[in-house]
Amino acid sequence: MKKEEILEYLKSDKANSLFKKADKIRKLYCGDKVFIRGIVEFSNHCCRSCLYCGLRQENKKILRYRMTSGEIIRLARQIIEQGVKTIVLQSGDDFGFSQKTLSDIILNIKRANPEVAITLCLGERPFDDYRAFRDAGADRYLLKHETANPRLYERLHPGQSLKKRIETLEYLKKLGYQIGAGNIVGLPGQTLEDLAEDILFMKELDVDMAGIGPFIPQKATPLSNQPPGKLDLTLKVLALTRIITKNTHLPSTTALATSDPQNGQVLGLKAGCNVLMPDFTPESYRKNYTIYDNKVRVSLDRARELIFKAGRLVSPSRGDSLKCKRRPKDYAYT
Ligand code: SF4
Repeated sequence: MKKEEILEYLKSDKANSLFKKADKIRKLYCGDKVFIRGIVEFSNHCCRSCLYCGLRQENKKILRYRMTSGEIIRLARQIIEQGVKTIVLQSGDDFGFSQKTLSDIILNIKRANPEVAITLCLGERPFDDYRAFRDAGADRYLLKHETANPRLYERLHPGQSLKKRIETLEYLKKLGYQIGAGNIVGLPGQTLEDLAEDILFMKELDVDMAGIGPFIPQKATPLSNQPPGKLDLTLKVLALTRIITKNTHLPSTTALATSDPQNGQVLGLKAGCNVLMPDFTPESYRKNYTIYDNKVRVSLDRARELIFKAGRLVSPSRGDSLKCKRRPKDYAYT
């Protein structure tokens, strides 16, 4: 699909046929099973200043926390005991966790559970860290590109560049990680052309997964007064990403649930998504992981309920990349 055609779909009012087509392609390339990934938001410290995010370092209104290594490892064990085969370790860009501490956590989880996949979502770190985490057993790395428009990227991410983000994603791919990018829909200053570029960017980078959700303003950020991104536009971006990238893993994100708590994620599953990511972070911490306002908590039971509601099945597998290019290799834990 060329950029002009993507734009036509993004502008069009007739989304139903697009969703049906995406659903058909999802069935053909990914099957009916939905993969479940268990998220642990283990630290809300962040050294960055992204204009849209409540974890930005300038926000003094939230209580900052770091879970201990023991807490993280114990929680991972509990998640695995409930049948979840992928643990997502997520934090702000927090250098309070050293390369060694994080490597030890990964190694500890993998040594006891080599069959379980670990996805990291730790932001931008020195390249040496990515290698160490991979050697410790990490399988996947999620680093959303947020927007493929370099000027908008730099406006929203002071001190950061899209070029560095892309170099990092390329490097992660070289290390053998299954990589994830993804964008925010409805960012202030974003155009439909930018969204079309986002989709083409993910196709070109050949991402294994893509996290796509609407912009939701957070009250303690400079974008607090901006309107939220539209749910139907986000669903169109998801559907087009499915149609264009075919077998990329697409989570029906928590941000969709926050936009529409009743139906947002079911609509996502019906517009091409094949992954759900319930949140296992203990409530005492989770309430301070305020990347945006009113973030809904999706529990494991709720995820199963949503899958059932969408007429789909829960996958018992860990759901590696369907691209068949980047395979897990032997790690230190074996
Ligand atoms: S989006 Fe990520 S890097 Fe940016 S402030 Fe939030 S947690 Fe930090």
